[in-house]
Amino acid sequence: MKRESPEFRLAQHDRLAKLAIRAAVDFANCRVESAEQVLEIFQRLPLPRHAFKTVGPEAVRSFRDSDQREVRTWLAQIVERGNVARQVREQVAKRIQAVDVLSAGLVFEEGILRPQFALSFSGVQACYAYAVALLASRDSDRLAKRLGSCKKCGRFFFDERSGAGGPREYCSSAHKNQLGVWRFANPGKNWKAPTLP
Ligand SMILES: [Zn+2]
Repeated sequence: MKRESPEFRLAQHDRLAKLAIRAAVDFANCRVESAEQVLEIFQRLPLPRHAFKTVGPEAVRSFRDSDQREVRTWLAQIVERGNVARQVREQVAKRIQAVDVLSAGLVFEEGILRPQFALSFSGVQACYAYAVALLASRDSDRLAKRLGSCKKCGRFFFDERSGAGGPREYCSSAHKNQLGVWRFANPGKNWKAPTLP
């Protein structure tokens, strides 16, 4: 059987999947200062306005101390291990129950069968659980390999270049170059990436 290329697999995931992964990565990287700021990150997903249960400004604490910690741990485990830890899959399996399917149907167009469904997310937790589930899904190992943690700045990144096969080490070529320059100026020393804010 012909092996599917990573591009093909990525193309299969719809726009929502990519946006969800981007949002989860942005949430993991950010310095959480307000509940509004976190909601804004996830409201970039094409969801109805009323999709999220409303939260007050006090939600900032659980976003920062519980949710962000959780998503950082999951992403770090995916990056470090190169393959997804069973524990991550088990935790995500529980969380993903918060994602509802609103409508489902089959489209048979141009000779290709495509299941279609609309997802509903009750809140931030459901969104990032969906994103991590996409990364951790057994049939998308190559998606997980696109996730990295930059050796220079310590931030997580998701490499969307077609043909990206990872594992990669930098969020950008700028950071790759900057660390190269630093290493040249500091022979024998080890650069320590800053911890996330
Ligand atoms: Zn970087």
